[in-house]
Amino acid sequence: MAIAGTGKPLLISNVRPIALGGGASTGTTDILVGADGTIAAVGSALQAPEGTERIDAKGAWISPGWVDLHVHVWYGGTDISIRPSECGAERGVTTLVDAGSAGESNFHGFREYIIEPARERVKAFLNLGSIGLVACNRVPELRDIKDIDLDRILQCYADNSEHIVGIKVRASHVITGSWGVTPVKLGKKIAKILKVPMMVHVGEPPALYDEVLEILGPGDIVTHCFNGKAGSSIMEDEDLFNLAERCASEGVRLDIGHGGASFSFKVAEAAIQRGLMPFSISTDLHGHSMNFPVWDLATTMSKLLSVGMPFDKVVEAVTHAPASAIKLDMPKSIAVGERANFTIFDLVDGDLEATDSNGDISRLKRLFEPRYAIIGAEAVTASRYVPRARKLVRHSHGYSWR
Ligand SMILES: [Zn+2]
Repeated sequence: MAIAGTGKPLLISNVRPIALGGGASTGTTDILVGADGTIAAVGSALQAPEGTERIDAKGAWISPGWVDLHVHVWYGGTDISIRPSECGAERGVTTLVDAGSAGESNFHGFREYIIEPARERVKAFLNLGSIGLVACNRVPELRDIKDIDLDRILQCYADNSEHIVGIKVRASHVITGSWGVTPVKLGKKIAKILKVPMMVHVGEPPALYDEVLEILGPGDIVTHCFNGKAGSSIMEDEDLFNLAERCASEGVRLDIGHGGASFSFKVAEAAIQRGLMPFSISTDLHGHSMNFPVWDLATTMSKLLSVGMPFDKVVEAVTHAPASAIKLDMPKSIAVGERANFTIFDLVDGDLEATDSNGDISRLKRLFEPRYAIIGAEAVTASRYVPRARKLVRHSHGYSWR
């Protein structure tokens, strides 16, 4: 990650720590970040040297920097991706995890043109299919075995192990046709060899969500966990719900992965009411989901809050939970000497009409509002995304809203 130092220390005053040791803190504190980007002092009424940048957070929350475990940011290398800057620091997110936009054939470009220059920390699940999402859902990446090159995947990982955190498999018939669950089994084999987790996208069967869960093990991730698709919703089949609950208790991570087609208020609300929480909250932001219906991570967090997920669990699901999924070392307290990486945010009253992927509408009464992303000594002003007007777009299968 290349970040130019600001050359100046940064004094952050009046923040309330959460997910940084103990429970939700009631008191506020100040944090002094040195010009080198590491924490120099923590306490009340801190003094700072001349020339220090200053932020008065006015009692806003401070948490570890938010992690979005499922985005698509291979901009220019795929037709679907957005730039890291569109879903990163300016939205309060300091770590972006790309979910399989790049495959082994083009990962070197993703690394050089996106990962290395980005202000945000960018990590990646490597797509099992060689081409990744070059022409997403038009040229599917997993039609048959010719689309997978085991030797080259192993080599790509060896060359990029500091960036690649796992293997991504999209297991739905839109991509794999009638190939069923075989690509998931191959992905699991590679993930085992590399000792990394596999993230599987569940959607239109085949493969069945049930079959996918049977293959996953502790540490693996199922994304789009609360989708409302026919044949893939955990709320339409009691056996599938019970299986998901058992797998989650055994360490399979249920990830939201909202996206254009994969989050249902009804499914999320019913699952949470029955005590089944998502492990991580992620957006699946890309060019076709950003303006409708996802917007950003803060809005997605607000949606989960609205269907009954407790505030501290929501914060955990964008900090320590996704960090543990990608083996990212995330400090559990504000410790002098650590590199600063935080999100400063408020939880405010509101009345915002939000839509899920099924077109169901909910009015959000409590909203996460990011204020700053702190990356080293740099404070990036952050806010929620205001969507552009929707546009009806004609394509080969009909019309859709963009
Ligand atoms: Zn995705």
